[in-house]
Amino acid sequence: MDSLHIQKGAAGQHSHERTCENCGEYVTKQFVRVFGANDGSVYGCMNCSTGRDLRDGGGKQP
Ligand SMILES: [Zn+2]
Repeated sequence: MDSLHIQKGAAGQHSHERTCENCGEYVTKQFVRVFGANDGSVYGCMNCSTGRDLRDGGGKQP
Protein backbone atom coordinates (compact mmCIF):
# COMPACT_ATOMS: atom_id res chain seq x y z
CA MET A 1 0.00 0.00 0.00
CA ASP A 2 1.31 3.40 -0.89
CA SER A 3 -1.51 5.46 0.56
CA LEU A 4 0.83 7.91 2.27
CA HIS A 5 2.15 9.11 -1.05
CA ILE A 6 -0.50 11.77 -1.58
CA GLN A 7 0.52 15.25 -2.57
CA LYS A 8 -1.41 18.03 -0.98
CA GLY A 9 -1.68 21.66 -2.01
CA ALA A 10 0.18 21.75 -5.28
CA ALA A 11 2.00 25.02 -5.80
CA GLY A 12 0.55 27.35 -8.36
CA GLN A 13 -2.94 26.11 -7.80
CA HIS A 14 -5.63 28.73 -7.84
CA SER A 15 -6.37 29.83 -4.34
CA HIS A 16 -9.85 29.44 -3.03
CA GLU A 17 -9.35 32.60 -1.07
CA ARG A 18 -10.72 35.74 -2.58
CA THR A 19 -10.74 39.28 -1.40
CA CYS A 20 -13.31 42.01 -1.39
CA GLU A 21 -12.58 44.46 -4.22
CA ASN A 22 -13.71 47.29 -2.00
CA CYS A 23 -11.73 46.81 1.20
CA GLY A 24 -9.43 43.84 0.60
CA GLU A 25 -10.94 41.68 3.29
CA TYR A 26 -10.83 37.94 2.68
CA VAL A 27 -14.12 36.44 1.65
CA THR A 28 -15.07 32.85 1.05
CA LYS A 29 -15.73 31.34 -2.33
CA GLN A 30 -19.29 30.69 -1.28
CA PHE A 31 -19.71 34.30 -0.23
CA VAL A 32 -18.60 35.41 -3.70
CA ARG A 33 -20.96 32.94 -5.31
CA VAL A 34 -23.90 34.28 -3.35
CA PHE A 35 -23.16 38.01 -3.31
CA GLY A 36 -20.53 38.60 -5.98
CA ALA A 37 -20.48 39.11 -9.72
CA ASN A 38 -20.45 36.24 -12.18
CA ASP A 39 -16.74 36.72 -12.88
CA GLY A 40 -15.87 35.95 -9.27
CA SER A 41 -15.37 39.50 -8.08
CA VAL A 42 -17.18 40.89 -5.10
CA TYR A 43 -17.39 44.59 -4.32
CA GLY A 44 -18.59 44.43 -0.79
CA CYS A 45 -18.33 42.19 2.24
CA MET A 46 -19.52 42.03 5.80
CA ASN A 47 -16.52 44.17 6.78
CA CYS A 48 -17.33 47.18 4.59
CA SER A 49 -20.98 46.70 3.70
CA THR A 50 -24.19 45.59 5.31
CA GLY A 51 -25.96 42.31 4.70
CA ARG A 52 -28.88 44.29 3.40
CA ASP A 53 -26.76 46.10 0.82
CA LEU A 54 -25.24 42.82 -0.29
CA ARG A 55 -28.63 41.21 -0.68
CA ASP A 56 -29.68 44.19 -2.79
CA GLY A 57 -26.85 43.41 -5.19
CA GLY A 58 -24.30 45.81 -3.70
CA GLY A 59 -21.54 43.23 -4.06
CA LYS A 60 -22.04 42.70 -7.77
CA GLN A 61 -20.78 46.08 -9.00
CA PRO A 62 -18.28 48.73 -7.89
ZN1 LIG B 1 -15.20 44.66 1.87
